[in-house]
Amino acid sequence: MKTSEAIQMTEQYVLHTYNRFQLVLDHGKGVHLYDTDGKEYLDFAAGIAVYALGYGNETYNQALKDQIDKVIHTSNLFYHVPLGTAAKKLADAAGMDKVFFTNSGTEAIEGAIKAAKKYAYLRDKSSDHEIIAMNQSFHGRSLGALSVTGNAHYQEPFLPLIGGIKFADFNDLESVKAQINEKTCAIIMETIQGEGGIYPATEEFLKGVRALCDEHDILLILDEIQCGMGRSGKMFAWQEYGVKPDIMTCAKALGCGVPVGAFVLNKKTAENSLVPGDHGTTYGGNPLACAAINAVFDIFERDHVAEHVAELTPYLEQRLDELVSEYEVLEGRRGKGFMQGLIVKGRPVGEIIQKAIENGLLVISAGSNVLRLVPPLVITKEDIDEMIEKLKKALES
Ligand SMILES: *Cc1c(COP(=O)(O)O)cnc(C)c1O
Repeated sequence: MKTSEAIQMTEQYVLHTYNRFQLVLDHGKGVHLYDTDGKEYLDFAAGIAVYALGYGNETYNQALKDQIDKVIHTSNLFYHVPLGTAAKKLADAAGMDKVFFTNSGTEAIEGAIKAAKKYAYLRDKSSDHEIIAMNQSFHGRSLGALSVTGNAHYQEPFLPLIGGIKFADFNDLESVKAQINEKTCAIIMETIQGEGGIYPATEEFLKGVRALCDEHDILLILDEIQCGMGRSGKMFAWQEYGVKPDIMTCAKALGCGVPVGAFVLNKKTAENSLVPGDHGTTYGGNPLACAAINAVFDIFERDHVAEHVAELTPYLEQRLDELVSEYEVLEGRRGKGFMQGLIVKGRPVGEIIQKAIENGLLVISAGSNVLRLVPPLVITKEDIDEMIEKLKKALES
């Protein structure tokens, strides 16, 4: 099928909720993607921070093929081997207790919210609890996740959302304190805000929120859907802060392309929240998804993927900082590890992205004026150099 036909058919039959770039991706190899015309792109988007291992990882692909030949789906009415092993790997990596697998990030948030509400319900023997979320946050598009997403534009057409949600300012402890009352059951935030524009939590803030939660028996929910799975240079971004959540959400790179998410609970929360009848999913944690998760964790361990990110981060940051000082249109850089944002001023960020694509580089935006770099975690120094060269061309054209 020709490129133009593929675009035409998509626009005719797929509900138009995305303004897509005019290229039709066909296949990938390593950290490069190829379109149906054979043009090569260096991929610093990774399917929005999903494809951490790059394209065509043999171990990963073989694990999926092997599982497909056995069984893809069983339902959660039965046991299957990959489920327990995947849950153990995720729980061990987080040093937490129990896992519930979902099919997406937004579903992981739904489950985390339900677990927090149930915990408070058992504690107080009453409902009507409140959750504190952050302005400029992003937690997903389903109605519960949208309710804790601090973006009026995303919320407005869908009001009323779930009740009892209060918003505070990220990295402003006093604003969080001001929203706490005896009804508060959870505080939810991204450890590093992604869609909102790449804002890492400050250590002071995260530690302060943790202390408030401990003081008031409030659950801390950290959304690691984008910043987790090695992207920050640690397996989970909170591990760098010396702060631990009560509930953590994961998705994106957890399956490295197979749609999967999870919420992970510490012992206290696991033992005092959801029980049979409270929550469920037909697909969540099915054998194919769990085979992907198992392969991802095995490869992370074998190839020291998170350590690689930590090792190469200073070089990436140095090259990006050079760009910032060289180009007036770049106002600054924010981020951690391989989750970096370049702040753009005086030019629409979409225009730079379009030019980057023309020059064979895939990058995306975050917030209204941030160029977001979330490459596969396996990039090398040479890939960073290639990205810088291509981005320079985009900035100059
Ligand atoms: C992408 C994202 C989500 C939503 O995940 P989906 O799989 O798109 O539902 C939630 N939280 C954060 C921080 C994200 O980056």
